[in-house]
Amino acid sequence: MSNGGVSLEKLRALQITPLEDEEDDEPQGNGVGDIIDDDDDEEEEELVPVTLGFVEKPKNRWSLLRQLFPSKAGGVPSWLNPINLPYGRSCQCDICGQPLQFLLQVYAPLPEKESAFHRTLFVFMCPSMVCLLQDQHEQWKRQPEKASRSVKIFRCQLARSNSFYSSDAPRCDGTDKPSGIGAALCNWCGTWKGDKICTSCRRARYCSEKHQAMHWMSGHKIECQQMSISQSCNTSPTSSSAETRKVASNTQWPEYEIINEDECEVDMEICEDNVYANSLASAGSQMDEATKSLLDNFEGDGDRKSWASFQERISKAPDQVLRYCRFEQAKPLWPMSSGRPSKTDIPTCSYCGGPRCFEFQILPQLLYYFGVKNDVDSLDWATIVVYACKASCEGSEPYKEEFGWVQLASQSAPVR
Ligand SMILES: [Zn+2]
Ligand SMILES: [Zn+2]
Ligand SMILES: [Zn+2]
Ligand SMILES: [Zn+2]
Repeated sequence: MSNGGVSLEKLRALQITPLEDEEDDEPQGNGVGDIIDDDDDEEEEELVPVTLGFVEKPKNRWSLLRQLFPSKAGGVPSWLNPINLPYGRSCQCDICGQPLQFLLQVYAPLPEKESAFHRTLFVFMCPSMVCLLQDQHEQWKRQPEKASRSVKIFRCQLARSNSFYSSDAPRCDGTDKPSGIGAALCNWCGTWKGDKICTSCRRARYCSEKHQAMHWMSGHKIECQQMSISQSCNTSPTSSSAETRKVASNTQWPEYEIINEDECEVDMEICEDNVYANSLASAGSQMDEATKSLLDNFEGDGDRKSWASFQERISKAPDQVLRYCRFEQAKPLWPMSSGRPSKTDIPTCSYCGGPRCFEFQILPQLLYYFGVKNDVDSLDWATIVVYACKASCEGSEPYKEEFGWVQLASQSAPVR
């Protein structure tokens, strides 16, 4: 606690360092896009309540089932609409063509909107840092140019009365059941629709040839023969919910439940039992080292003010993995002042044409919980900001693609 206090003092000192040349110093990103100057709005920003997300191991086996409308990170998605899943190129990294990996989902219903009584935003990304670096260039592209992304967001919403769930609130005692089974999923990733069937056993299902090949190599080759034999002996077809089949791949990120807490209710006490050693708010000599390298790295860097206030705000609850705020005035908390999008960099909703607004941002702490290593080529980001249709429009597409803006940790910024 006292060490945390010391560090904050240092960061405050850092923050008030005069930065006359800040305007000219800002790196120009890719030379595209105007930098939003929201320094003036910091006071206002303080007043907008933010809900923080923290990860926890799920309390019960059933806690993260789709009928409980969870917010979760890692593992496989709990699809809200379990039938009409995203398909085709939407499920792939546009850069390497691999099926995307599930990052997290946020249950964010809009009580004032009947058609969004249930509403979940899903975030997927390619685990390849090479792709994310490429994605960085692509996100600056403006419409009508089609960007090739390695991060994709989907919005799904349902009315209270729908064909998938009871209109009563879940009892949350392990007895809740969905109204029907969902689409059969890929046996390998458990994430995407398994609309390709293994031609030998006619049971294993895949989202893609890539996942079929991976499953084959990792053991389905043998399993497939056994299944073919058992199938010819056993006349009763296994109608067991394909949806709940266990996932063969072990490359998903570890699964967590996301727990909410209002930022205003989070006080410094939480920092005391904090174990996140990489955070600048952690204790002891590490702190001094981190602060020192921070100062060294930001010498003459226009990002340092932004970075310091980012760290100060985050240090109130260094475990946070998510910041959610769907208010008109809400703005993301940017780690860097450079590489922020201007309003025109955020494409309008591709379904209704209306504006998109900031809804939540994902912090790099999540990578720590996912056990992602801190190597040069490891997946890393400073923040992923999700923008969704302001009107949360309806329309025929059950999963609507929204927009994610990724800010990478620049070479000089010790984000993790
Ligand atoms: Zn990729
Ligand atoms: Zn798959
Ligand atoms: Zn097979
Ligand atoms: Zn829209």
